[in-house]
Amino acid sequence: MSSPTDIFSAEDERVRSTINRLKTKDLCDHCLGRLVGKIGHGYTNDERGRIIRQSMNIGSWSDEKKCSLCDNLFLRVDELARAVASKLSQLEFETFSVGSRYDPATLDKEESIWSECGSEHAEPIKVEMNREVGKVVEKITDKEVDTKNPDVVAIVDVNFLDVELEISSLFIYGRYLKHDRTIPQTRWPCRKCQGKGCEKCNFTGKIYQESVEELVRPEFMAAAGSVETALHGMGREDIDARMLGNGRPFILELKRPVRRMLDLASLAERTNTATKGRVSIGQLRYSSKSEVQAIKQAEAEKSYRVIIKFSEPVDSKKLLRAVSSLRQSPIEQRTPQRVSHRRADKVRNREIKEIELESLDDTQATIRLRAASGTYIKELMHGDEGRTSPSLAEALGTRVDVVQLDVIGIHDE
Ligand SMILES: [Zn+2]
Ligand SMILES: [Zn+2]
Repeated sequence: MSSPTDIFSAEDERVRSTINRLKTKDLCDHCLGRLVGKIGHGYTNDERGRIIRQSMNIGSWSDEKKCSLCDNLFLRVDELARAVASKLSQLEFETFSVGSRYDPATLDKEESIWSECGSEHAEPIKVEMNREVGKVVEKITDKEVDTKNPDVVAIVDVNFLDVELEISSLFIYGRYLKHDRTIPQTRWPCRKCQGKGCEKCNFTGKIYQESVEELVRPEFMAAAGSVETALHGMGREDIDARMLGNGRPFILELKRPVRRMLDLASLAERTNTATKGRVSIGQLRYSSKSEVQAIKQAEAEKSYRVIIKFSEPVDSKKLLRAVSSLRQSPIEQRTPQRVSHRRADKVRNREIKEIELESLDDTQATIRLRAASGTYIKELMHGDEGRTSPSLAEALGTRVDVVQLDVIGIHDE
């Protein structure tokens, strides 16, 4: 399917009758060729149009005439491309795609020609225009068209020459450590006012005034010229738990960035200085929207260190037996009371992969363990009034209170 005659030797009766009916239409080469735009590879639509005219003796098109469909819009491709390139010049980007907006009358006209002549071989005007403008913009800007995953989509209004930019988010992967036991991972809007600000939240719109996200993002926002972010974590630790060890994977999404080429190493350094050790980040690299999904769905095992307190002194042998009894035994965990307002109430089966007693001092002990993703560790210790079973409290027959919890490793590799 690649010689000029393919367009006409096509067996399809509809193509032939389409072309026959077109004899009476005042269509430019682009609009004529586009009606059979899906036939024959390696041609532009105006080439298709000229071939049709020649072979059917319709006479060549003159730009003095006005195309009844597009109003000779394709004569303005260069002008549209310059408008797009000029708008794009305010941005840093590597790839782009072009979109276009039309007078509804133009699209109605196209529809009515299709309903008359058939649309199965036709290409819409938008598709041709976006492609043709894109080719010229590529030459002007020396950047590449990418219709699947562009850094930016430039949408040009073909009548008014306005260009609107839809800038794709910039995604940066890293791992964070959290040494502060008072901050959540992400912004936490006030439930009462939904973030608008009310008396309950002291007109801040937030329940917690700071978060890992808010401590990490300022340098990045300034560098990228972004005004909005989202932090996507591979799970999250409790507010009062530290995140230690190899850190927790996260992806910082910078929305509508003006600049995309950032010095990640220096950003990490500046961020770590600014947060004064409360949060620190490292292993930064560029990421993608698809990795956000992967991170959110990852089910990595986690290691923890937990300090617990007993209501009375506990015998070390008895404690060792109780701790060992939890290892690799199936744990049934009903949604904890403390999160039941935001999580569905159900029973989950979890497994403790490793657990060991690190130290015991009268009524206080330190335990290290490794558990499946999603295990509630505090509840595994104190039992949550029987909602987690077995628990250490149940195995010991003693009240257990959690003093401190730290995540000391995320096993995602
Ligand atoms: Zn036309
Ligand atoms: Zn509020």
